[in-house]
Amino acid sequence: MGVTGTEAGARPWEIDMTNGHHVVVLGAGYTGMFSAIRLAHRTRRTGVKITLVNPTSRFVERLRMHQIATGQQLADHRIPDLLAGTGVTFVQGTATAIEPETRRITVDGTMSLDYDTLIYALGSSTDTGKVPGADVQAFTLNNPEIAGRFAARLTEIAAARGTVTVCGAGLTGIEAATEIAESHPALHVTLISPDEPGGLMGAKARAHLHRALDRLGVTLETGARVTKVLPEAVELADGRIIRSDACLWTTGVKVSSLATDARIATDDRGLILVDATLRSVSHPEIHAIGDAAAVRLAWGQLHGSCQSGLPTAQYTADTVARLVRGKAVKPFRFGYYHQPVSLGRRDAVIQFTRTDFTPRRQCLTGRGAVAYKEMVSGSPLLTYRFSKRMNLTTIVSKGGRATRRPAA
Ligand SMILES: Cc1cc2nc3c(=O)[nH]c(=O)nc-3n(C[C@H](O)[C@H](O)[C@H](O)COP(=O)(O)OP(=O)(O)OC[C@H]3O[C@@H](n4cnc5c(N)ncnc54)[C@H](O)[C@@H]3O)c2cc1C
Repeated sequence: MGVTGTEAGARPWEIDMTNGHHVVVLGAGYTGMFSAIRLAHRTRRTGVKITLVNPTSRFVERLRMHQIATGQQLADHRIPDLLAGTGVTFVQGTATAIEPETRRITVDGTMSLDYDTLIYALGSSTDTGKVPGADVQAFTLNNPEIAGRFAARLTEIAAARGTVTVCGAGLTGIEAATEIAESHPALHVTLISPDEPGGLMGAKARAHLHRALDRLGVTLETGARVTKVLPEAVELADGRIIRSDACLWTTGVKVSSLATDARIATDDRGLILVDATLRSVSHPEIHAIGDAAAVRLAWGQLHGSCQSGLPTAQYTADTVARLVRGKAVKPFRFGYYHQPVSLGRRDAVIQFTRTDFTPRRQCLTGRGAVAYKEMVSGSPLLTYRFSKRMNLTTIVSKGGRATRRPAA
């Protein structure tokens, strides 16, 4: 199934270049940044103007947030520096409303930006609103400021050999718990979750993960659900109280309500519903990428990750560039290929996966895995740098037979 600019014909999302074309990219996280830079390279000399909107001028490396949370100093990447030489205009501000009918964005409640094409890349954040007390008592890894405050709190309580609870044993919870235990051996770290850590891994990788948790002295509370976060403890569903001088919340995801508020079609979580070419099913001039898009493929729905997010950004930059030139567009295809998890700075485990994220037999552990994970974490910034000059691909797997036909 191909979609063409000419096929679009009289349809409202036809790309008309008579008066130039303005693309607004909302969000300069991993995917928004990549789509803006790649699109600038692919549309040079076509009259396309690109504006990128983000609340801060610092580029946030979410993949390294657990490092900030343990007091490590990370490079401070500035968005204007990353965009230098691309021609992309950076607007520092928060998008506060979208008016799809007039194709207008409001930034910080006052400034207006008109668009012809919108790339919606607002990402996601950890939801502390579901369990009482989590929003006030718990820290998150949602931004460098909160992660920095958590780091300061850890230093404070380490002196008294305090207790830290990490709620949620998904990949973020595991990475955070091991990083904390390694950098603060005096702290008692408890990882609390209804599910077994590494439950989506194969037996070998999971065994390695559990050995690492054990070696680092992390206490596991598996099969446990936190029902309340108190000032110095967390309460579990079975009534037990676990002491907690600092609580890190890593479970549950929420997205901006901007799309839903604008009556753009979203799923029940607020993710934009997209077609096979990642365009909004209700407003085809809006393309959604990364964690904020509900992308369904023949084998199932993508979950929020850089691994799948960067390919959605690459695909969308290429799609917009092709539509500008009136060329055909093929459906998006992608398959997962790995689950990389750091276990502190000196250990890691990489579970290789099938297209649908189920584990293969192969995994990598120890030093090789540490180097692999570091390469994964550093690759987005390298990709941005090279993408100013060449069309580098981030799509390692298109999913083979599993994605050959788009989902109905
Ligand atoms: C600790 C941690 C470790 C992780 N490790 C991995 C990993 O190893 N591998 C992996 O694949 N994934 C990992 N992830 C997930 C990965 O970080 C996300 O999937 C990825 O960041 C999604 O990219 P994105 O561009 O959609 O969103 P983001 O990178 O979150 O970017 C969204 C951007 O939008 C901006 N924004 C939000 N609201 C507005 C607004 N109203 N107006 C303007 N801008 C706005 C935000 O400030 C942000 O800059 C990890 C996440 C965390 C927290």
